[in-house]
Amino acid sequence: MNLNTTLLPILYMLAAMGFILAIKWMGSPATARRGVIVGEIGMLLAVVGTLLRFEVVSYGWIALAFALGTIVGIPIAVMMPMTAVPQRTAFSHACGALASALIGTAEYYKGLNGAGLTRVEMTALIIETLLGFLTFTASLMAFGKLQEVLPQRPITYKGQNIVNLGIFALAAIIGIALIASPEQAALFPIFVILSLLFGVLLIIPIGGADMPTVIALLNSYAGLSASAMGFVLNNQLLIVAGALDGSSGFILSIIMCRAMNRSFTNVLFGAFGQLQVSAAGAQEAKPIHSASPEEAAQILDAARTVVVIPGYGMAVSQAQHKLREMFDLLAKRGVNVEFAIHPVAGRMPGHMNVLLAEADVPYDKLREMDDINPEMGMADVALIIGANDVVNPDAENNPKSAIAGMPIIQAYKARTVMVIKRSMNPGFAGIDNPLYYLDNTLMLFGDAKGFISSIVKELQAVGKAA
Ligand code: NAP
Repeated sequence: MNLNTTLLPILYMLAAMGFILAIKWMGSPATARRGVIVGEIGMLLAVVGTLLRFEVVSYGWIALAFALGTIVGIPIAVMMPMTAVPQRTAFSHACGALASALIGTAEYYKGLNGAGLTRVEMTALIIETLLGFLTFTASLMAFGKLQEVLPQRPITYKGQNIVNLGIFALAAIIGIALIASPEQAALFPIFVILSLLFGVLLIIPIGGADMPTVIALLNSYAGLSASAMGFVLNNQLLIVAGALDGSSGFILSIIMCRAMNRSFTNVLFGAFGQLQVSAAGAQEAKPIHSASPEEAAQILDAARTVVVIPGYGMAVSQAQHKLREMFDLLAKRGVNVEFAIHPVAGRMPGHMNVLLAEADVPYDKLREMDDINPEMGMADVALIIGANDVVNPDAENNPKSAIAGMPIIQAYKARTVMVIKRSMNPGFAGIDNPLYYLDNTLMLFGDAKGFISSIVKELQAVGKAA
């Protein structure tokens, strides 16, 4: 029985179905676990199918690579905290993209020394290696910025975009020359170096906080590179899986750009996060109202409807478990507590959903922005926890604002707004937030976890006294 024509297509078909269902199910917190499991089963089938292929001549090297991958992969998965997921993802992309680019390189030299490569194969190979190498260095740079081993601020200089596009154009021209006549072997290393260099230069002018959007885009490039590799290796599953990866990464980056009301070009070439910070520094002092944990607990205790709006600060302080305790105490007292989730709250897509799911906050209490905004006027309290830009009314009212047009959670409509943060410092966009100066806003200064712990203690004390 020829496994390549009988069992393999079935395994690959099942694997592709697993990947498609995984993406579908991972779209909702309620089905996300199922999505992860079916995706893992799909990947297992893909690996088993590939190991059964007749082209495999020796299992020794594969076993060694498997062991090394396991030794490196398990600690990364276990030791990385949730807040480090964006950089972990960047690192995974770097590894995947390098693998794809190295396979392309091996295929090029194999073709050069053997039967040669057809024009179609050579085109796919050039796309694979160009995207693979540039995604490798770009993802490593993204990792460095997110891990703060590299400066987070955008580094810009005059004529930067022209230099970058020039290098990309040169790599593309050499690639086309190689497609036309692959035997010009001296050109290939130059092509590789230019691709690697472009990846570095692409990321330098982008601010650290824009990295999650860039990572979604790099995810798309790595997927396209893998898809092109499928054409080179004549592997249908790679074509399908790469295309899924490429398109889902692209769609995700579009969703993120829309949720920030920014264009791709603004993210890639706008050097966001540079000018606005200095503008915020020039703010004059305006009056604000602050409150203690005791006062905050009393207001929450007296409310009927509380909308919690979490943001990046909740992730930094890991306040989700204490928040869950507060939710339970208030729910017991008959207060209706819901969580308003902005699509780009935090620093990666789904950041708030993941953290709240980790703390077992019921899924039906999580409300999407468009769903909850019409009801914000009926909320007694909007409790903002380490969120800033995603509740900034300037996005709606001030056309000159850096975030003008970005959809926000309309916290300002609530009867009382309470904001937990450590200072008057701005958030990611680096701009002041007029919400903090409204008459119905109370600033609750402190670390999110610490402040919520104090509120929990106050609520427990009130509960015991009653
Ligand atoms: P944000 O605007 O960055 O504000 C976060 C706030 O949290 C800060 O003002 C900070 O104030 C506070 N904070 C930090 N550590 C804290 C702690 N330990 N305890 C309490 N507060 C703390 O966050 P956001 O409202 O979630 O908005 C996200 C921003 O990131 C948006 O501008 C979005 O466009 C951008 N972005 C998001 C993604 C994504 O995928 N989610 C991707 C790229 C960019 P203090 O320093 O005063 O405490």
